[in-house]
Amino acid sequence: MGPDPLADARYAGYRRKLIEEIRARGVDDLEILQLFDRVQRHIFLPDGVQPRAYEDAPVPIGFSQTASQPSLQAHYLSILQPTPDDVVLEIGTGCGFLTALLCLMADRVYSVERIRELSQRARRALDEFGVKNAALLVGDGTIGWKKYAPFDVIVVSAASPSVPQALVDQLSDGGRMLIPVGARDVQELMLVQKTGFAVTQEPVGGAVTFVPLLGRFAWTEGKG
Ligand code: SAH
Repeated sequence: MGPDPLADARYAGYRRKLIEEIRARGVDDLEILQLFDRVQRHIFLPDGVQPRAYEDAPVPIGFSQTASQPSLQAHYLSILQPTPDDVVLEIGTGCGFLTALLCLMADRVYSVERIRELSQRARRALDEFGVKNAALLVGDGTIGWKKYAPFDVIVVSAASPSVPQALVDQLSDGGRMLIPVGARDVQELMLVQKTGFAVTQEPVGGAVTFVPLLGRFAWTEGKG
């Protein structure tokens, strides 16, 4: 079963507006902008918030979590530039929207989410959208997904006090990772790159606010 064509027609105009907004916020990579036209964000959101699918804003998806702001995700993709040969690790599947975008750019996407219900819901949406190259796991993403390492691209969609070493270890030679690093309430986006044995880390862009990365090598649950 594919996406509902009537709902899609209803949302098409809003989607164009969102793309204009993303462009206004500085992402002008045509391939990336076209992806935001192809992937219908509303099918990834719970019914109650579907009308907000094409606002350039974080949207609540239940379980105290939020789907990230689309322009920020576009910014992520323009920095990481996944290619058709790349193997990607995503930490924090959430609603699965970024997973779908990554699936259209890369060879395979492995995505870890700690909340089972969100992972199951993302799986249904990804199936409805029709991507076949995503593998989802329920678990603690701060330890990565060793079985399928190394990864050319690692995307972390939750905020961490530091860069988990396990994730650095699972980057390929030439691999790059984006992760928000900082305090619980405000972070800086860090780009981590590996070349041979050399690992560099540099801030990209301004302050961001993500939900906390909760796990063995990040924040502990309940604190904060
Ligand atoms: N890109 C997603 C972002 C969701 S918010 C979207 O747009 O929907 C971040 C997600 O990270 C939440 O769903 C949260 O449950 C998850 N998360 C937090 N800590 C995690 C961990 N240690 N491992 C895996 N997922 C985690």
